[in-house]
Amino acid sequence: MERKFWNEEMETMPLDKLKSLQGRRLQSVVARAYEHSRVYKRKFDEAGVKPSDINTLEDIVKLPLTDDVEDIRNAPFEDKLSVPLSEVKMYHSTSGTTTGIPEPIPYSARDIKAFFEGEARGRWTIGARPDDVVQVLTGFDCCHRGYVEMGATCLLLSAGRGFVDKQISLTQTAGVTIIEHMPSLMINYFERAKELGFDVAKSKLRLVSGVGEAWAETYKKKMETKYGIPFTTLWGSVELGVAAAQCEKRCGMHIFSDLIYLEILDPETGTPLPDGEEGEIVVTALLMNEAFPLIRYKVGDVSQIYPYEPCACGRTHPRMAPVKGRISQIVKIAGKKVMPLDIEEVMASTEGLAENYQIVIDKPGELDRLKVKMEYQSGIKDMNALRSRVEEVIHQNLGVESEVDLLERGSIVSDTYKAQRIIKTY
Ligand SMILES: [Zn+2]
Repeated sequence: MERKFWNEEMETMPLDKLKSLQGRRLQSVVARAYEHSRVYKRKFDEAGVKPSDINTLEDIVKLPLTDDVEDIRNAPFEDKLSVPLSEVKMYHSTSGTTTGIPEPIPYSARDIKAFFEGEARGRWTIGARPDDVVQVLTGFDCCHRGYVEMGATCLLLSAGRGFVDKQISLTQTAGVTIIEHMPSLMINYFERAKELGFDVAKSKLRLVSGVGEAWAETYKKKMETKYGIPFTTLWGSVELGVAAAQCEKRCGMHIFSDLIYLEILDPETGTPLPDGEEGEIVVTALLMNEAFPLIRYKVGDVSQIYPYEPCACGRTHPRMAPVKGRISQIVKIAGKKVMPLDIEEVMASTEGLAENYQIVIDKPGELDRLKVKMEYQSGIKDMNALRSRVEEVIHQNLGVESEVDLLERGSIVSDTYKAQRIIKTY
């Protein structure tokens, strides 16, 4: 019989047992951080909370939030560590998107094990199996290792990141069955493959795993129809590794709740929001991060936890919506909040538009109207009619006035890293 789960005991644990496991792990994480990490000792003391105040999972709200820049990046390295330096066996690093400076993230031997448990479980959940041949194009080393850990065959990035033509050639010669990439760059890959005469629908490729950036569901479905390959999603961060993944039922992502405790908070007030409401993701690492504890850590992504319902796949862990974007990507327009993914939905549901877009912010503070650059597909005759149609869809979907600048496909330059969806011109 085919093995269905990567870690059956954890993934199918009855909910009450799972909650008590989370509670026990939380207590031990908090006690350990208080005792060994100067950053957390100081934060807990300032908030007047002691590890003995944390008796149940619900007590987590007594703990202060951890801010990436203020608490983590600005603290001296040795203050963050909660193991001796000699016990640090691996470093990961952030991409430095927020501050421009990459931050080393230390891991103990136990952390490495827990980290790759998440990486491997994530890949198994999206449907990867040991007979798959996987090409990871993101440039993140941990993704390769996640696939190797679960037994798949993995192509290392020997032909170089960013060299699309060489990667396309490798896909064919190595008989690749799964590609993992940034969604926006995967579209470039498919377009280029078509130009080179490589028909992906007729190849061995059977699945695309999109990581590292958000993408709209409508858009995903459109791409699946266009290229004939299903797209799936994982969620995680450099600090946590893979922490949630979409199962074959494709109704949100299962949160790996034995490894992390995930809360959704109102980004303005910091208060927890009920399931079904969208807000900022805050995570507590329950098993990992022995060397570098993460307690109520503001990841900076926006999502929601779905109201609990058992999943037909057999996993008991709650599910979250695909990540909608970064907190920093919320654009306020005439009292409404708009995110790049909202624009992506408009792009995907309006005939005549291509894939790339950019929101233009030309002044500080709240904007009166949405200014957006959108690429259109070749062969459009009446540009004014298309513009009016798009502005109408934006008004209907988002309730804001807009000024749409239509550009030829290829005008918005794609980077070799994440797509730049918001540009500031002031
Ligand atoms: Zn499921």
